[in-house]
Amino acid sequence: MGKKSGTYRYRPLPTEVPLTSNEPFIQNKTLQGLSLRNVAVSVLNPKGKPIITHRMDMIFTHFGLSGPAILRSSQFVVKALQKSGVNKVVVSIDSFPDKKEEALFEHVKEMVRSANKKAVKNVLKGLVPERYLLFLLQKNNIDEDLPSANLSHDKLRSFVKDLKRFEVRVNGTLPIEKAFVTGGGVSVKEIHPKEMSSKIVKGLYFCGEILDIHGYTGGFNITAALVTGRLAGLNAGKESKRNEE
Ligand SMILES: Cc1cc2nc3c(=O)[nH]c(=O)nc-3n(C[C@H](O)[C@H](O)[C@H](O)COP(=O)(O)OP(=O)(O)OC[C@H]3O[C@@H](n4cnc5c(N)ncnc54)[C@H](O)[C@@H]3O)c2cc1C
Repeated sequence: MGKKSGTYRYRPLPTEVPLTSNEPFIQNKTLQGLSLRNVAVSVLNPKGKPIITHRMDMIFTHFGLSGPAILRSSQFVVKALQKSGVNKVVVSIDSFPDKKEEALFEHVKEMVRSANKKAVKNVLKGLVPERYLLFLLQKNNIDEDLPSANLSHDKLRSFVKDLKRFEVRVNGTLPIEKAFVTGGGVSVKEIHPKEMSSKIVKGLYFCGEILDIHGYTGGFNITAALVTGRLAGLNAGKESKRNEE
């Protein structure tokens, strides 16, 4: 591999893999086992802009984040963490992808306003799963038993911001052995695509995960492995026959 060894092109990297986090609420297992359904998960760049967003389910675990939306977003976290000087990446969770933040604020404000003396936790019940609701209230220094009428405008704003953009700093992934799919590997530029033979080493054929191609789960990787495996096998067989003649 020479000079290129260890670069992104060759080094295998986990994709479709759960993410790890040192956030206190993860380390304390506050939300462990809590699933969020149909949320929009975004991986943010250092300027806070989304690199990718996936709208699916996710789950908080004892080590970080997992579930379909996280697995799908994970390759972008892996690649962002490979940039020099980056040891944390922000993942943002939007619990109301169909509502703009201002509209959600008005909606929640109306819920709170019409309830008057009722405790905040009862008024907002059903908005998001109860554990998540209580966690976000606490995070925003809102006493769950506070009468709704006493909830300040600023606290309500920051609570609604968390409903739309709850940011979790992630610092890595589970090891490659736990990944569903492997990224990195032998560059397709170094392979004759019709035979899957190496352009560099005669008689060497590649297929499947060893290639620097990967897709989301859902059949793309299995299909790629089967197709490249068939091509590589057939052509390696032909070459071996030619050599015997
Ligand atoms: C839990 C899980 C879920 C997945 N879900 C999906 C999905 O939904 N959709 C999708 O497209 N992909 C999915 N994948 C990925 C997909 O399974 C792989 O991309 C595909 O199987 C790769 O095929 P492969 O032949 O390259 O490698 P593998 O399937 O890993 O096969 C390699 C084989 O080589 C053997 N081997 C390793 N070293 C040696 C050695 N030294 N000598 C002899 N044999 C050796 C291994 O035992 C293994 O049998 C999933 C993977 C996992 C782990």
